[in-house]
Amino acid sequence: MNRTVVGQVFLKKSGRIDALSGHVWIYRSQIEKIKGDLEPGDLAHVFLSTGKCVGTGYWNEKSEITVRLLSNKQESGFGADFFAEKILKAVQFRQRFVSDTNAFRVISSEADGLPGLIVDQYAEVLVMQLGTFGMERFREQILEALKRTIPSRGIYEKSDSGSRRTEGLQEKTGWVEQSCGDEITIFEGAAKYQLNFSEGHKTGFYLDQRENRVLLAELVEKAGFAGGSALDVFCYQGGFALHLALKGMTVLGIDSQENVLQQAEQNRSFNGISEEKLRFKAANAFDELKSLETEGKKFDVVVLDPPSFVKRKAALEEAITGYKEILLRGFKLLNPGGLLAVFPALITSMKIS
Ligand code: SAH
Repeated sequence: MNRTVVGQVFLKKSGRIDALSGHVWIYRSQIEKIKGDLEPGDLAHVFLSTGKCVGTGYWNEKSEITVRLLSNKQESGFGADFFAEKILKAVQFRQRFVSDTNAFRVISSEADGLPGLIVDQYAEVLVMQLGTFGMERFREQILEALKRTIPSRGIYEKSDSGSRRTEGLQEKTGWVEQSCGDEITIFEGAAKYQLNFSEGHKTGFYLDQRENRVLLAELVEKAGFAGGSALDVFCYQGGFALHLALKGMTVLGIDSQENVLQQAEQNRSFNGISEEKLRFKAANAFDELKSLETEGKKFDVVVLDPPSFVKRKAALEEAITGYKEILLRGFKLLNPGGLLAVFPALITSMKIS
């Protein structure tokens, strides 16, 4: 079924620049007036003060980002065909550079012209995240388009992002379609991971670090650290630690959450790595880095992959102190000539206004 456009949004003169530059977000402050009785998720055409139409998008007055454009044309509406076309394009794009894995992000929201929709593929399972009211209202068309374009044995929904609250939506998680078990096995280079969708963070896995995990394993080998020791701080279900252990390193993985470490342990044996080669410890990274230093421990490779310490600008100072502390402590734990791999979320955090 096609959903049709039911209203019009008129921008202030000052709203012009972003809208014309191809940006798909229209902020509340850019809007002069609307025509039509717009409900959350309704479709509208967006006009500049000159009368030029800059596109068609969905409306939600509950969000500061009040319109998100789905097209830069004056469309009459959208249905499953529209989504199928966008999804196919995104899949073809990924096929050009994603290799040596069966787990990757297929749809990355605005980047694929589908604001509010994230779809990750984990082997034969798709994990879908609907983050906005506008996308929630397209649930039926999105599911139809996914089934048409990407063969899968299950679609799991993980719509639990904070943005849903802002949009006035409840969380939704669980299988939408299922003809496979709850656990799935994925591979990434030499490493294999077992995922249980109902338990993991994000959509199950930190896919954004895929290239870094593979790259670090290669670097470690080239640098001649393969027989050495490594510390993986904020290791989640064994991400970097497994890759390093598979290269022959003796690794200690640290994470504060016991339940993610149970999965990490399972991943260790699943990859045929011995307990002597790879050990996981549940601890607060700040305390553990201090203890390791006091004990005089040293490592050839230290990985620091912390979560974002800052979600609001007000927390920035404290976050910087936190990042500085783990960096300094990480350096101190390195053997001379060792390698520190740091992935701080600070750069994106600095942009928070
Ligand atoms: N490196 C991982 C992803 C890390 S995500 C991978 O490649 O898959 C960040 C992790 O930090 C999460 O697993 C979270 O449980 C953990 N974490 C958050 N705060 C922590 C703290 N203070 N001490 C230790 N671990 C923490």
